[in-house]
Amino acid sequence: MPAYDAIVVGGGPAGSTCAYRLATAGKSVLLLDRARFPRDKACGGAVTARALREMPVGIEQVVETTVSRFELRARHRHGFSRAASSPLAYMTQRHRLDAYLLGRAVEAGVELREGTAATEIRQDGVDDDGARVVIGADGANGVSRRLFDTKRRNAVALEGNLPHSEAPDERYSERLVLEFGTVPGGYGWIFPKADHLNVGVGGWTSEGPNLRDHLARLCEAHGFDRDALTDVRGHLLPFRKRGAALAAGRIALVGDAAGLADPLSGDGMYEAALSARLAAEHALRILAGELDCFTGYTRELAARLAPLMRVSWGAKFAFDRLPMLSFTVARTPQFWKYVAQTYG
Ligand SMILES: Cc1cc2nc3c(=O)[nH]c(=O)nc-3n(C[C@H](O)[C@H](O)[C@H](O)COP(=O)(O)OP(=O)(O)OC[C@H]3O[C@@H](n4cnc5c(N)ncnc54)[C@H](O)[C@@H]3O)c2cc1C
Repeated sequence: MPAYDAIVVGGGPAGSTCAYRLATAGKSVLLLDRARFPRDKACGGAVTARALREMPVGIEQVVETTVSRFELRARHRHGFSRAASSPLAYMTQRHRLDAYLLGRAVEAGVELREGTAATEIRQDGVDDDGARVVIGADGANGVSRRLFDTKRRNAVALEGNLPHSEAPDERYSERLVLEFGTVPGGYGWIFPKADHLNVGVGGWTSEGPNLRDHLARLCEAHGFDRDALTDVRGHLLPFRKRGAALAAGRIALVGDAAGLADPLSGDGMYEAALSARLAAEHALRILAGELDCFTGYTRELAARLAPLMRVSWGAKFAFDRLPMLSFTVARTPQFWKYVAQTYG
């Protein structure tokens, strides 16, 4: 008999929420993470309203600001803002959010092994530990995706934190600012937190060598001192291509390990929490003897994400190739309605 019902590799939002769901259903769960928590993760820390709805626990303890206004800008020159009638995003910091979610999982009974990098993922366990199902939640740079044909197109992003004292204009403290038409395959952002702004840029991996310059230009365009940014760091953003594997046998990939981030917005916590929920539901059915494998998970997740991905890829290419025309379209009430309905 394997020692565990499930082993979850990786304790980011995908892994911790999946482990939480399995443990609260009475299953024995081991969660491995190569890091020790609290650990940081390069991220704007915007938990969209749709992401929050997919979380198994509330996160109010770690929310620093709630935002319902968004400002869309083009080429550092033109801009407009729109406000939704309900919050669009809950702003947090990942070292706080991830430690909080992991803590809830441990309270629910998950056995946590920190500072432990998984090296071998198998159908019957991970390294020396046996399990009946395995969840690969080890992010964009993990090991579990190497088992699969995970066709993907990567983006890369760089971000830092600007203390509020360095950005006296109060408009930044109550809105999400997005700058399009400046970074090929991506955009720049300014996100409000309790005592700082998170300022970042992301684009295709080919833009990697230029990201420092893009970040400096974004700061300059908004009157920020680039040298005042602290904790500047970068990370990959994996975008799954259609048809790429999400599971094999009794191993399922969730979150960034599966390459699920939204290609337009770059947000991945909604997809992390959604895939975690679906993987947990299918894992419980496997453990109950109703299913043999995660094939149904692949089918269900791919079907749930397909309409979103179609629109996001289309809009991404439009913003990339025809930024000014796309910006004009984005001013229309129809576009705003789509944003509010999709992310809100
Ligand atoms: C710069 C940037 C800004 C972003 N901004 C936003 C945003 O504002 N909102 C949003 O929703 N999304 C954002 N995203 C995307 C979001 O960060 C990811 O989609 C999200 O972190 C995915 O969660 P995850 O749990 O799948 O992976 P991760 O959060 O990456 O967690 C993976 C975990 O696996 C562990 N791990 C890795 N390898 C191993 C191993 N071999 N063994 C054991 N453990 C391992 C890691 O230590 C880590 O703790 C952003 C991404 C970037 C790069």
